[in-house]
Amino acid sequence: MSISQAIEKIEARYAHQPEFIQAVKEVAITIQPLYDAHPEYSALKVFERLVEPDRVFGFRVNWEDDKGDVQVNRGWRVQFCNALGPYKGGLRFHPTVNQSVLKFLGFEQIFKNALTGLPIGGGKGGSDFDPKGKTDSEIRRFCYAFMRELHHYVSKDMDVPAGDIGVGGREVSYMFAMYKNLTRESTGVITGKGVGFGGSLMRTEATGYGAVYFLENMLLAQNDTLKGKKVLISGAGNVSLHAAEKVNALGGMAITVSDSQGTLYDEKGLNQEKIDWLKKQKQQNKPLADYVDVHGGEWLAKQKPWQFKADIAIPCATQNEVNEADAKLFVENGVKYVVEGANMPLTAEAIDHIRLHRVHYAPGKAANAGGVAVSALEMSQNSVRQYQTFEQVDERLKGIMKDIHDSAANASEQYGQTDNGYVDYMAGANMVGFKRVADALVAFGILN
Ligand code: NDP
Repeated sequence: MSISQAIEKIEARYAHQPEFIQAVKEVAITIQPLYDAHPEYSALKVFERLVEPDRVFGFRVNWEDDKGDVQVNRGWRVQFCNALGPYKGGLRFHPTVNQSVLKFLGFEQIFKNALTGLPIGGGKGGSDFDPKGKTDSEIRRFCYAFMRELHHYVSKDMDVPAGDIGVGGREVSYMFAMYKNLTRESTGVITGKGVGFGGSLMRTEATGYGAVYFLENMLLAQNDTLKGKKVLISGAGNVSLHAAEKVNALGGMAITVSDSQGTLYDEKGLNQEKIDWLKKQKQQNKPLADYVDVHGGEWLAKQKPWQFKADIAIPCATQNEVNEADAKLFVENGVKYVVEGANMPLTAEAIDHIRLHRVHYAPGKAANAGGVAVSALEMSQNSVRQYQTFEQVDERLKGIMKDIHDSAANASEQYGQTDNGYVDYMAGANMVGFKRVADALVAFGILN
């Protein structure tokens, strides 16, 4: 069966899962040259196997709100593929979470994790629970209730979750506490833990920093640097604010951040003092718009950040936040590099448009792999019960991001996708990630 026949099958079977189909197609359209060079992949139906998760667990989460009313949410864990190591991928708490979203995230995670070169498989999970407006005690009760169900399906050598949208250090701590309580085991079953009880230094910063390290390598490949470059960033969460911090540290100038309420524009750039203020504001669940009273700039309610002139864009909020019209704005406004901090933030049409106009494009599975890479380093630190210093982890992260960049660029060249200096990072990353997993599946025969 060819890749296109496998896609038709998936489209028919999962017509109700558009995000999942989008993610599968994005990989499918780029791996044909690799598939042609490896007939054993089609003989063993590797692609068809990889688009079906190993298993999907769904469960009910009952919890009590502050008024004593019983609330009921849905929870899931998608164990997609453990060919390279334990299932690994974050937990998302957001009202938009459903099986399609988690399957797209889990599918992407397989290849992202393979790209890190570390022994981790792909998975994802979460709940349609909405943390917005909940008190700390409600968050705690929900996290406990969620882990009471999830603990049946995870363990340190089998499936190791982490954070994602709506799940940060506080939520991870509550879930870890419940896991320990139920199992009496203190293991690295979840990453993103507090540094005092098994967490790795730099895990919080890793995704945003890693995306900017990837960008530095892209710039270097074009004999360019970040110095003086204007950068549009979306989101005002973990990935976004740490990306802004690293852009600033490396001499660039982040001029926007955003959230679900609108966009903040500061033409003078976000320096460390302003970023620290933003971090505090978001931690306290206070509005981004307050920034204008303290630091100046402009608040654009219900608008995205893509209307401004800039050199670089790093979307760091959520899937499909950049559509074709936004991609046209990138091209019109002189954006030369787009680096995905979020997972699948560009629609298929947006990707086509910027690639057509030779905007250098780093897909999320390559550019935002720094978070899961440091999570894997946290797992190994937990296994040997030793910590590494901030500097040691940072050096590893830089090395991993450079390796991902170089291997994607080399694959783009090797399979004839580099055109006059324009590197096809999307094709390169997909082929490198896919090949590592596919070769393992071939070695295993038809199990896995
Ligand atoms: P956070 O929850 O910390 O922040 C998410 C940010 O995006 C918030 O500012 C949120 O605004 C905004 N946002 C979410 N949904 C929307 C929307 N529909 N429209 C506009 N803004 C929105 O999440 P993270 O920073 O951890 O994750 C961001 C992205 O990065 C996700 O795609 C995630 O999968 C990806 N990622 C995260 C990793 C990590 O280590 N955390 C690792 C790899 C990828 P508001 O507060 O108003 O909701």
